[in-house]
Amino acid sequence: MYEEVKSDVVKILKILEEKGLNYGRSGNVSVRIPNKGHVVITPSGFVKSSLSPKDALVIDMEGNVIDGEGLPTAEIQLHLGIYREYEYFNAAIHAHTIYSSALAVARESIPPIIEEAVLYVGGEVRVADYAPFGSRELAENVVKALRDRRAALLANHGVVACGKDLWEALEVLEVVERLAHIYVLSKALGRAFSIPREVVEFQKTVFLSKLKH
Ligand SMILES: [Zn+2]
Repeated sequence: MYEEVKSDVVKILKILEEKGLNYGRSGNVSVRIPNKGHVVITPSGFVKSSLSPKDALVIDMEGNVIDGEGLPTAEIQLHLGIYREYEYFNAAIHAHTIYSSALAVARESIPPIIEEAVLYVGGEVRVADYAPFGSRELAENVVKALRDRRAALLANHGVVACGKDLWEALEVLEVVERLAHIYVLSKALGRAFSIPREVVEFQKTVFLSKLKH
């Protein structure tokens, strides 16, 4: 089932590893198949960059495996929670990036310091409250932090980026990690200014009209 989507998931996992956005067994990726009630999702326990398309699983919206062998990622509730709440997302990438994880450890949201923050993410990147990995509580906290945004940090953990498809989710993830890197460096210089509030508000309006249509 959904061979093309499974091979895109594998491509994304390799890109994440190559770009230093994820490593080893960490991270997970999913794609919702519109109008089918199915989600293609990574399995638990693999070195993600060595996954082959046949290892990806297909689940329904209750989390039952309907195609493939093995267990879905421990973060299954996180992915399903995002799709249940936000009908405009069809892909989600969760990764253990470095700079965004550093800010997630500091439990510090990333302010709109450059315009990509608003254009790609929707504004300040919030930190979802801490909950243990794989828990329903974590899923709930992340869903809440994603309101009118395409990404959120997970306290003491990592980041999740969403999009209408996998390639958009990847683009958002790259923007968040770059934002986080720039923010950490500017704080090291001693000052980090946000772009003017009225510019943020205007660009947010544009962002939201694109996000929800
Ligand atoms: Zn994780």
